[in-house]
Amino acid sequence: MKDLYTFDSTEVEAMKTYNTVKEAYVHLFEELKLPYVVASAASGNMGGNLSHEFHFPSPKGEDTIVSCSSCEYVFNEELASGKCSNNHAKDKPTADSKSASTSDGLGRQEASAISTGQWTSISKDRKVLVRAFYPKFLITDGESEPAQREVNQHSLKSILSAYGIDLDIGVKDALAAWKGEIQKQPLTTEQNIRVVDVYDARVRVYDRPPIKELLEGVPSGDLNIRSSLLDRFPGTETGLDLLRARAGDQCPICGEPTLKPDQAIELAHTFHLGTRYSDVLQANVAVNPAILEEAGKKGHTEMVPVQMGCHGIGVSRMISAVSDILADDKGLNWPQAIAPFQVAVVPAKGLEKEAELVYDSVVGRNGESVDAILDDRSKDFIWKLRDADLVGYPIILAVGKKSWNSGNQVEVQCRRLDNLRTTVSLEELPKFVSSLLSKL
Ligand SMILES: [Zn+2]
Repeated sequence: MKDLYTFDSTEVEAMKTYNTVKEAYVHLFEELKLPYVVASAASGNMGGNLSHEFHFPSPKGEDTIVSCSSCEYVFNEELASGKCSNNHAKDKPTADSKSASTSDGLGRQEASAISTGQWTSISKDRKVLVRAFYPKFLITDGESEPAQREVNQHSLKSILSAYGIDLDIGVKDALAAWKGEIQKQPLTTEQNIRVVDVYDARVRVYDRPPIKELLEGVPSGDLNIRSSLLDRFPGTETGLDLLRARAGDQCPICGEPTLKPDQAIELAHTFHLGTRYSDVLQANVAVNPAILEEAGKKGHTEMVPVQMGCHGIGVSRMISAVSDILADDKGLNWPQAIAPFQVAVVPAKGLEKEAELVYDSVVGRNGESVDAILDDRSKDFIWKLRDADLVGYPIILAVGKKSWNSGNQVEVQCRRLDNLRTTVSLEELPKFVSSLLSKL
């Protein structure tokens, strides 16, 4: 990981720095000429701060990126806030609306047709049992058979952390762990053991299973377990969306049913931290009045907390991701921006001197700079060509006897451009090579 930490004296300067770093990252990804996505974190979720992630879409990726084809909104599933889109919220059924004809919030389905799923988890201190109730099936556009839904555990974790509950999503049998904790405690009402029920906006709250069912097999005596109910996004009147997004789901920004999740590999991250750490650490700087005025404040020199940013590129992760995406059965295949050399010149035995001419012609003496390597090892021609394929040079120039003897022709090979193999004369070579490089 290559990290960069930035410090500015004002928010305005910090935003300039942030955008400069983000732009540099964009340039780097553009140079790789591989498909990438930039996902933004919902600002509300990050406490008003700003963050972007750079990903390669790849079935091998560990992250799930959800993108909207209508409004270009892209977000990491891990950073979904759990807040319902406005379109859900306006039709939200209330706790006492028992009418079977009430819409489910999407306005397309009878609420009574939804079966409710329950997902159970526990806090890290084992005292809080969390029951999440979510719609097991939803009908969305473009899906003839409604698929079974899953809880987005990250959203749930984020919602609960706003209430001081640190969820441990790794526990397999949360109920057993919670019961175990009850039996360790003295049976008093002072203990913090409790149940929190969290409801997705599309699920009826009145179907709440009784707490005493949970205590089966526990010698609870007159144990009085506290319970609370959560069906609003923290600090708002908006309902909760606890589901992992599926293709055809409604976009939280534009409301169109055009979301699409894809696996992706996260490679870089830009993050504006603001004063989150400098406040706590009292990392202050004296700011002169001119800068304060620029930031819209007036007054004398004062101490202000520094505005921080942190940014990182996973360099080794990028190398492995690129090799995964582009490698084929012959070997690696590098984009020219990160290849060890852009061009490999490989001569047949006896054509070493001629290969130097080829090398000189492509590296260029007119300011055209191509990074090339001449394989002058005394190995078999075919062996060297296979080795060049294995290493993954973007362009291989094979100087073989047959083509060279028919008018100084060189065979140009490029696996990434439809396995291109063509012979080009020495005179035409520099122009041809640079036109290929512009595509790699
Ligand atoms: Zn959208």
